[in-house]
Amino acid sequence: MRYISTRGRAPALDFRGATLAGLASDGGLYLPDAWPTLSQDEIAGLGGLSYVDTAVAVMAPFVGDALTREELRDLCEHAYGRFAHDAVTPLVQLDHQHWLLELFHGPTLAFKDVALQLLGLLFEKFLHGSGDHLTIIGATSGDTGSAAIDAVAGREGIHIFMLHPAGRVSDVQRRQMTTVRAPNVHNIAIEGDFDQAQALVKAMFADSDFAGRFRLSAVNSINWARLMAQVVYYFHAAVRLGAPHRPVAFSVPTGNFGDVFAGYVASRMGLPVERLIVATNVNDILHRALSEGDYSQGSVVPTATPSMDIQVSSNFERLLFDLGGRTSLADQMAGFEATRAMRLTNSQREGAARLFSSARIDADGMARAMAWACERAGQLIDPHSAIGLAAAREAAGIDPATPIVTLATAHPAKFPDAVERATGQRPRLPSRIGNLFDREESYATLPAEIGAIEAFVAERATPRG
Ligand SMILES: *Cc1c(COP(=O)(O)O)cnc(C)c1O
Repeated sequence: MRYISTRGRAPALDFRGATLAGLASDGGLYLPDAWPTLSQDEIAGLGGLSYVDTAVAVMAPFVGDALTREELRDLCEHAYGRFAHDAVTPLVQLDHQHWLLELFHGPTLAFKDVALQLLGLLFEKFLHGSGDHLTIIGATSGDTGSAAIDAVAGREGIHIFMLHPAGRVSDVQRRQMTTVRAPNVHNIAIEGDFDQAQALVKAMFADSDFAGRFRLSAVNSINWARLMAQVVYYFHAAVRLGAPHRPVAFSVPTGNFGDVFAGYVASRMGLPVERLIVATNVNDILHRALSEGDYSQGSVVPTATPSMDIQVSSNFERLLFDLGGRTSLADQMAGFEATRAMRLTNSQREGAARLFSSARIDADGMARAMAWACERAGQLIDPHSAIGLAAAREAAGIDPATPIVTLATAHPAKFPDAVERATGQRPRLPSRIGNLFDREESYATLPAEIGAIEAFVAERATPRG
């Protein structure tokens, strides 16, 4: 299996190379050069399998020769053995048509664990014995930071530096990052806001002198291996609801278009997906793109669903590339980067409309969905999942016999205030992370200046071999 860039000017890589690189050198994103497919019989055969066995069957074609099947199984057992639910990603029924797919049973209570737990192990495996070292640098407004730190803490060959805006993440979110005590984990509170933290990370990647000294890597969802790991739960859920004999629809609370793109991949691999509903909050660039062809960046409005407060959805480029016959997107994306706006072509719009629909859900719609799930099905759901459920419940044109699965992307206890406002009930943190407030924190506080941060990183990271 070879991986090619959406912008057509970076070398093709194998799975190991694409995993370690993250972003392609031409600024594009890696995709497999052809989609592997599973026959209807093979999909039916997934029926009784455990999550780990499903993961091995779905991911093996993407991994190619980079790992043996036994190595892949070992990594999956290790990654998913850390989940608190034996089913890893259990399905919960809400009514005759609606289901929740709970993706938040990992160590940091957000769906990002499903992919990042595996990615941390893949990094370690691929670096082992190569003499190479990775320096992961990221900025976080909350969930990504804790999931990434948990995934790489204590792993050989990797240092992680995570910047968060001082005083602007919740206590739970900060403590989930700063109480992880491992010599390769470095938390930095930036005296500034999230945009400044993110700009500092970009500036470090763009500093060729600095980037030449360290093998830098990012942890956002541009990494192909993250998306690959997410394809698994679409198969796992669908076969439990009757696939391949019955089609299934999914509603996905969306920010960077990573999670829902994994659903698209599942469909390209042969899973009968009737519809993918792209659910956005009021930061609705994807809803405008899919409903009107208008992909233009607005300014970000802060909401109760911070992980979806995004106005540029990096992974959308992967969809446009695949829909457009896989010709280079370099020109279209250069146009977008210059003007912060682009129109989808007619063929891109028609291609997307065959599988995707979209909805923009405001704060009222979100609160109503939380209240409905609580009153009618006895389920407390987090605000992100509620955006997905609201979009699922208002979706038109789906056969009443088709199950609609809403992806539940965070544990409600991560957002207790919003849940309590909508339902009158305060969700409690699961006991496994219950002593978060007794553990000692460790982090540095630095000014929002690139010199100070680069010096901090350089003192602690391992340079290129
Ligand atoms: C990251 C995140 C999302 C958005 O996922 P994308 O892959 O960026 O579309 C939704 N909900 C939660 C809780 C998240 O952490």
